[in-house]
Amino acid sequence: MTQTRAAGATWSGNHRYHAIEVLLPGDLDELAEVVASARTLRVQATRHTFNDIADSDAALVSLERLPTRVEIGGDRVRVEGLVTFAELAPVLEAQGRALHNLGSLPHISVTGATATGTHGSGLRNGNLSSALRAVEIMDADGRTHRVDPSHEWFGAAALSLGALGIVTAVELQTEPTYTVTQEAFTGVGWDDIAADPARVFGGARSVSVFTTWGDPAHDLVWAKSDDGDLSWVAALGGQPVGDDIHLGRIRTVDNTTPRGSSGPWHTRLPHFRADALPSDGDEIQSEYFVPLASAPEALAAVRALAPVIDPHLLVTELRTVAADELWLSPAFQRDVMAIHFTWRNDTDGVLSVLPAIEQALARFDARPHWGKAFTLSGEQIRSTLARVDDFVSVAREADPRGVFRNDYLRRTLGL
Ligand SMILES: Cc1cc2nc3c(=O)[nH]c(=O)nc-3n(C[C@H](O)[C@H](O)[C@H](O)COP(=O)(O)OP(=O)(O)OC[C@H]3O[C@@H](n4cnc5c(N)ncnc54)[C@H](O)[C@@H]3O)c2cc1C
Repeated sequence: MTQTRAAGATWSGNHRYHAIEVLLPGDLDELAEVVASARTLRVQATRHTFNDIADSDAALVSLERLPTRVEIGGDRVRVEGLVTFAELAPVLEAQGRALHNLGSLPHISVTGATATGTHGSGLRNGNLSSALRAVEIMDADGRTHRVDPSHEWFGAAALSLGALGIVTAVELQTEPTYTVTQEAFTGVGWDDIAADPARVFGGARSVSVFTTWGDPAHDLVWAKSDDGDLSWVAALGGQPVGDDIHLGRIRTVDNTTPRGSSGPWHTRLPHFRADALPSDGDEIQSEYFVPLASAPEALAAVRALAPVIDPHLLVTELRTVAADELWLSPAFQRDVMAIHFTWRNDTDGVLSVLPAIEQALARFDARPHWGKAFTLSGEQIRSTLARVDDFVSVAREADPRGVFRNDYLRRTLGL
């Protein structure tokens, strides 16, 4: 008898799962039995999403009781089961290996992050899905397919929203380990940030800008460099904030990664430490991706909405993501600026402000972050993704019974 537990809610509590329970198979054979007998099934991983992407009107399944395995060889790492970046990174580091980038927190699962195009920042850094070199997917009949770049499904499988089946293992590209020095600066003028984003965002391996769209005291450039040279920020007027860092209206309490000293990549690339609660916690997030070339106009369009945005906003973070070839990627075939909002945890308030932002960004073909809150229609989203029909064909081929579909996929992709 497969163990179960209650479905609960997303990490921030903004979405309570409708699913009646979460099934907890203990090994791959039991997972195959669960899948084969399911009418509908979605995977719940570390729950750091802000919408119903992982929900189902029947059951969810979690891989949390399955054995995990991390195998490092050459320039690859194979990760099996439910593993977070916080668990994976030190194992890689101990073998002298690293990933090209990380998101703002290491608490998220490798499979959930790569299924949704989770990203950090950097003009030359693709999102975390772009580091995938193979994906192992269990289909609705319990059979496992290894999908690598030579497989016709790869463009869909490496950023799948869970629509092809259950990802039981992934292989990621690694590189030799490196160190990073980071510092956060106030005092850089908004015009210097917005007029020529490539100058600020291209200054280091990973650069984020925090803002509340008006108060200069909240404008913060957080730069992470592998060579330690951050003098370019000082040349733009930046002054290091020291220990008392706050991100817009989020006052961080002893939960950020060390600044002003060099350390292994995984201890500096995330903003938040693995052993502490990240961000605010009582929040909702949204994010939109526009072509980097249009960033100055897109930022001006959002800034014009500051009075509408302000009552609901904790902080905005701006980042860049390099183009990739994954069919549902927010960075599909274009370098993008990611315009992120951490909102107060008030669903009605957030839903009241999102349409204005989406309308302002429509002329830039803005794509939403799949795991965050948005109100764009499926038609609008699909119009920005040239290979979406190919994705839908692969999803139907991989999952002819529609076991892994849910309301979210019907709404966004017409699946
Ligand atoms: C505090 C905070 C900070 C964040 N920072 C960033 C950031 O810096 N950059 C960014 O891009 N995003 C960020 N996010 C968003 C988050 O990284 C993504 O939404 C990510 O998808 C969360 O993964 P998860 O496993 O926690 O979520 P889940 O909801 O558990 O899973 C996400 C999706 O992946 C599917 N999935 C998971 N595992 C599997 C599997 N094995 N097989 C098939 N499908 C699977 C799920 O069904 C679901 O559809 C942040 C979120 C929070 C709460």
